[in-house]
Amino acid sequence: MNNTIVILGAAESGIGAAILAKQQGYAVWVSDAGIIKQQYKTELENLNILFEENGHTIEKIATADVIIKSPGIPEKAAIIQQLRAANKLIISEIEFAYKYIGTSKLIAITGSNGKTTTTTMLQHIFKTAGYSSAACGNIGNSFAKQIATDPKEYYIVEVSSFQLDDIIHFKPNIAILTNITEDHLDRYNYKFENYIHSKFNIIKNLTETDVFIYNADDAVTMQYINQYNTNAIKYPVTMNHKINQGATIINGKMIILKDTEVMEMNVSDFTLKGKHNQYNTMMTSIAAASVGIRKETVRDSLVTMESIKHRIETVAFIRGVEYINDSKATNINSTWYALECMTKPTILILGGVDKGNDYEQLTALVSEKVKAIICLGMDNLKIHEAFGNIVPLIVNTTSAEEAVKAAYHFATVGDVVLLSPACASFDLFENYEDRGNKFSAAVIDL
Ligand code: ADP
Repeated sequence: MNNTIVILGAAESGIGAAILAKQQGYAVWVSDAGIIKQQYKTELENLNILFEENGHTIEKIATADVIIKSPGIPEKAAIIQQLRAANKLIISEIEFAYKYIGTSKLIAITGSNGKTTTTTMLQHIFKTAGYSSAACGNIGNSFAKQIATDPKEYYIVEVSSFQLDDIIHFKPNIAILTNITEDHLDRYNYKFENYIHSKFNIIKNLTETDVFIYNADDAVTMQYINQYNTNAIKYPVTMNHKINQGATIINGKMIILKDTEVMEMNVSDFTLKGKHNQYNTMMTSIAAASVGIRKETVRDSLVTMESIKHRIETVAFIRGVEYINDSKATNINSTWYALECMTKPTILILGGVDKGNDYEQLTALVSEKVKAIICLGMDNLKIHEAFGNIVPLIVNTTSAEEAVKAAYHFATVGDVVLLSPACASFDLFENYEDRGNKFSAAVIDL
């Protein structure tokens, strides 16, 4: 048996892998190029797991039987390059965790947008149905930690492309690919194909009894799907095509078709609004149907589902103006969907660290719905260039408080103030949660 494991990176996924590895009897050692957060150090110390920080000792790492790489470490990092050059096998935390899944079932969700929403919704349905299940991976516990500390019959795992880069045997019983749009290209040599390839890794080990759920209206998915063929049972989700199996929406009604079973539900009854959430809901409903959860339970769950923090979340109504936190919209596609579901004149708070945005994709919706743009970022030039001729009012702000005050000033009864930045937050905030929390606090302060 392989008995020494080195884990590169000591954050959520690395610590989870360390806990599981220790539990499985391996000799575990953790190495991090930076400072390890105190909470993680404490977890390691409590388990008597040795670690180094502020640098990697390659000689020691290279002797390990198994090397687990945290998803935050880029392929181009010197340590990874050196280990690859030495032909060392490197796996991801989800690959390692998968070995210990036992007889439990795995549902894995990936895609550029909608992972957390779909994962959370699916867990809500499983919980309502009384199943033993947990949502984990990129949300909550890492997959490894969940298996080690709180095993379930069903793991509903949100997986990123970075986790999928280093899988070998990882094989979900149900794989969900929400959509593919350009994101994280800095980690993929600026080649979209590389990113697409890593997303499709989710189906690479599926066999004919597994299920693959995908968005048949997503241009990129459909362009590449035949290159990554699979024997799995395929359930497309679509609003544009006729289907024999899968999920669709016709005349305001969601229709789920699985074998000879049919489930129908009015879209107006979904609590999560917007076209993007209709796709997410179709994905979760067909997944739930494919494990045999009753239609009534699925319907009840969709009606009781609560909105998810930082994702088109209504924070408050103040003097007839609705304030919405969509801080998680860190790319153009998600902001597009947020604008798409706005039904009132919109004051849009936009900006931050742009990952190569093409703002033209928003032009039509912005001209139709947006009455003012409030930039919230250090460098707003591209936003001014893109919308200067379309939107009469564009101002710059550098804090959530300032942005909310400006919005309050411009808004009149019946408007909506939407924080949906289309950008990452690292110029002014710790992360998107920090940005969303500061926005919500400033709104409450009004
Ligand atoms: P992820 O976990 O993939 O980042 P989230 O569910 O957290 O996805 O949503 C991220 C952002 O994308 C939010 O602004 C959300 O409103 C939007 N979004 C959610 N689902 C979709 C979808 N299917 N397509 C496009 N955008 C979506």
